[in-house]
Formats: sequence, C-alpha cells, structure tokens
Amino acid sequence: MLRLENAATGYGRIRVLDSLALELGEGRVLAVIGPNGAGKSTLMRAMCGSVPLWDGQVLYEGTDITRLSAEARSERGLILCPEGRRIFSSLSIEENLMLGATPLRGQLGRSFAGAVKDGLERAYSIFPILKERRQNSGGALSGGQQQMLAIARALMARPKLLLLDEPSLGLSPKMADDVYATLHLLKKQGLTIIVVEEAAGRPLALADDAIVMRNGCIVRRDSAEKLRQSGNLASAYLGVE
Ligand code: ATP
Repeated sequence: MLRLENAATGYGRIRVLDSLALELGEGRVLAVIGPNGAGKSTLMRAMCGSVPLWDGQVLYEGTDITRLSAEARSERGLILCPEGRRIFSSLSIEENLMLGATPLRGQLGRSFAGAVKDGLERAYSIFPILKERRQNSGGALSGGQQQMLAIARALMARPKLLLLDEPSLGLSPKMADDVYATLHLLKKQGLTIIVVEEAAGRPLALADDAIVMRNGCIVRRDSAEKLRQSGNLASAYLGVE
C-alpha cells in the first residue's frame, strides 16, 4: 500500500532522514519506535507530504505521490493524526469532528453532508464519551479524551492509511491503554496504520511489523513479535536504561 524508497529530507540545511526505505501492505500495522529526535515525526511528515523529500520516492497504492501536496494525499486517504493532538479548543467537539471530514468535500460533492453524518455516527459509536459531550468545547476535555477526539477527527476523513504520531504522549497509563484499545479495534476492522512512539510496549503489542529509528536511520526492522521478545530492546536501541 505504501512504499518509501531512498527517502531523504530535513529542515533548512540540516539533513534528518537519509536513504530510508520501508514498505507496508494493506491491513498491516507498522510500529515506528525510537528515542527523542530520531526522526520519527519527520518520517510521518515526509509520508503525508507536509515536508518535501529531497531525494527518493513515496509510492502509495501503486502511484508515485512524491510531488503531491499534503492536501492531495489526504484526499486519497493518507491521513495524519499529529503529535500533540492539535484540536481546536475553542470549537465544540462536534465542530472539531466535522472539520476532519474536509478532505472528502471535493470528492463527494452533494453527498458530502451525508458522509459527515455517517462519520459522526461512526465516531460516536467508537467513542461514546464524545457523543455525550459533543456540544462542549474541545478544550474542556482531558488529555486522553482529546487524543480520542484527534483520532476520531482523523477517522472522519475515511483514512485508508492512518498515521499516528505519539498517540500516548502525555497520557496516564490507563488513558494510554484506552487509546490503544481503540487502535486494536481499528486494526481488527482492517485499517492500515503506522504508529510512532518513543516507548515500545504498547505499539509492539499492536503492530505486525516494526522499525526502530535512531539518528534518522532505521537501525532494526523485524516482526513486532520478534522485537517484543528482545528484552534488551530499550538499552540496545532506544538509548534508555
Ligand atoms: P520526538 O519524539 O521529539 O518528536 P522524533 O523522533 O519525532 O522525536 P523529529 O521530531 O523528527 O524526531 O526530529 C528529528 C530532528 O529534526 C531533530 O534533530 C529535530 O531537532 C529536527 N527537527 C524537527 N522538526 C524540525 C523543524 N520544524 N525545524 C528544524 N529542525 C527540526
């Protein structure tokens, strides 16, 4: 479904990713783990098109999308749920969700309103708490609920490939477990997912495949199961004791 070939990018004159390659099949879940500054978010941005590649290619559903804008990629179902959630705190929960459907507007024309209604129903069935509080402002939610809103908003765009950047960042262990329970459900429904995290436990329990990044490079790639069994993963690759 997605292939990255020889990808290089960075910011200004600073190269962050170099000669990076990865491949992900439909319905698979890939975990990208690595310490702070490893280049995980930059990799997500390169895939969704918010930072341009300096070299290499991104292929999505068999098409070269390297030169497509982030907007055009989102219209094709490549949706990023960004680090830090970025919800609009002065808008209501429902308004936040409706904004998530924006990539569908151009394609659906008259049936857009119906798609928004269906999307809201689906989002509320997955996250009943958002339905209960749908008229409240996004800023009134707890961190975990905001993360759920961010995921629900991404689902409104009907992703074929969902990129999740640190969905458990700043959450209590209980809240992080709740967020991951939802991701397990989405996986079961067949959604293709790439999930980025610093800590390996939850993403490796979810994923089929995994890569470990350090200093802009992939230092290990394996099945998530094999990586789960590597007890010394943290000290060997993540630079933590
Ligand atoms: P984190 O867990 O902190 O998000 P990460 O693995 O996602 O880490 P990136 O955010 O991709 O890593 O950062 C990789 C490198 O790129 C770092 O050295 C960082 O300082 C640099 N970097 C990230 N974003 C920018 C930016 N907008 N402008 C300049 N440099 C940046």
